[in-house]
Amino acid sequence: MSNEVKTQVVVLGGGPGGYSAAFRAADLGLDVVIVERYSTLGGVCLNVGCIPSKALLHVAKTIEDSATMGAAGVEFGKPKIDLDKIRAHKDKVINQLTGGLSQMSKMRKVKVVNGLGEFVSANELKVTGEEETTVKFEHAIIAAGSQPVKLPFIPHDDERIWDSTDALELPFIPKKMLVLGGGIIGLEMGCVYKALGASLDVVEFMDQLIPAADKDIIRVFNKSMKSKFDNIMLETKVTKVEAKKDGIHVTFEGKKAPAEPVVYDAVLVAVGRTPNGNKLGADKAGVKVTDRGFIEVDKQMRTSVKNIFAIGDIVGQPMLAHKAVHEGHVAAEVIAGKKHFFDPKVIPSIAYTDPEVAWTGVTEKEAKEQGLNYEAVTFPWAASGRAISSGATDGFTKLIFDKDTDRVIGGALVGSHAGELLGEISLAIEMGSDAEDIALTVHAHPTLYETIGQAAEVYAGSITDIP
Ligand code: FAD
Repeated sequence: MSNEVKTQVVVLGGGPGGYSAAFRAADLGLDVVIVERYSTLGGVCLNVGCIPSKALLHVAKTIEDSATMGAAGVEFGKPKIDLDKIRAHKDKVINQLTGGLSQMSKMRKVKVVNGLGEFVSANELKVTGEEETTVKFEHAIIAAGSQPVKLPFIPHDDERIWDSTDALELPFIPKKMLVLGGGIIGLEMGCVYKALGASLDVVEFMDQLIPAADKDIIRVFNKSMKSKFDNIMLETKVTKVEAKKDGIHVTFEGKKAPAEPVVYDAVLVAVGRTPNGNKLGADKAGVKVTDRGFIEVDKQMRTSVKNIFAIGDIVGQPMLAHKAVHEGHVAAEVIAGKKHFFDPKVIPSIAYTDPEVAWTGVTEKEAKEQGLNYEAVTFPWAASGRAISSGATDGFTKLIFDKDTDRVIGGALVGSHAGELLGEISLAIEMGSDAEDIALTVHAHPTLYETIGQAAEVYAGSITDIP
């Protein structure tokens, strides 16, 4: 027998976009139901994405940092790796956060219906779980996210061929591993497996790792990547993957392709994510979905159907949790009758690799493409007292200014804690700060964020005393 639930707002998907939308809608006095196929809220980000990867990266960074302390007079022994304990540590972090979400939804009286949701019409969803539930709604917010891209010529069912979700489960530490795709997710996982003892190669179709970031940033990043990866194959693609008893045989083609197939113990396929738009029966509600599975929305996150909104990975790039959260807030507020729309000046991007790479606002590449009248200034961390005292001199800070207004329009950092430091630049851009605003702000000494003030001073022509 089918249960029936009536609600003002149904949110399809309980990831960062979905739960943020649901909580904001509930806080604004609306009656809200979340439909989520898994038993915990949090979506990809909390369960198999942002959070577990950062828990593992923290472990990896601790291992890597302790190995560099010899020069400072402290020798640590070879790390003893207990995969079961590392996995348990990661799961504890996840459970703490997903448990918190469950509490927060209870506090707000947001009802969670577990099961796979599919539209029946523009006012009705069918949810298939342990029981079948019909959810009748006035408004819907689609927040059903994305999943890893699978390549047709790769035998994805072999247990030595991983996507990011598999890799986060730490099935084993391969002696020799290939990271297929030199983007953020592949490189983050590469850093984890390197610290845990794997030998790594990486293959990337484009001419640099993390193709979206500026070249000068990646030049510094490459120094560290060269110590982590035995072979960085740029402008190269994989043409064949064969799962054999002695390993995964991979054939390459392109600039850096090895002449013969290379045998790996594991291959991580990290070539991007694809939206789930074609899996929801959206057509039955009249919602327009692109051929690639994205749902088209306007600035208020409204789809082609007036009472149905969509947010997060499913509406397009960048596929990032913080973008999903902000879009979720917009959708909820518009449904509650508020005048709000999504128009951020910045959506920061961060690779939590070692070292971190972070950028916000326009990149220099984009500034060139858009024909902007800009100037980019950099400040090397080799001249930073804090960087020198903490062994973090392989880094730099870059600010991009609009030469007509002297306002900061972009920024990037590579180095330790780059992701945390990026916050100041994002805020400066959103607040329309110019070079003087940043240069005249007293930055604490010695800090890494001081380099942002110093880069602004370089632009303002006032730098006098590099510590
Ligand atoms: P999702 O998080 O994908 O949530 C969608 C939810 O909908 C899921 O829970 C799913 O089960 C549910 N669902 C889908 N279809 C149905 C259905 N038919 N019925 C019921 N439920 C359904 N982003 C960052 O910003 N920072 C990071 O550091 C970062 N690291 C990442 C690391 C990895 C390894 C990966 C894979 C991703 C990472 N991301 C990161 C990306 C981030 O996870 C996503 O951008 C974010 O989760 C998108 O949120 P969302 O709400 O759009 O969708």
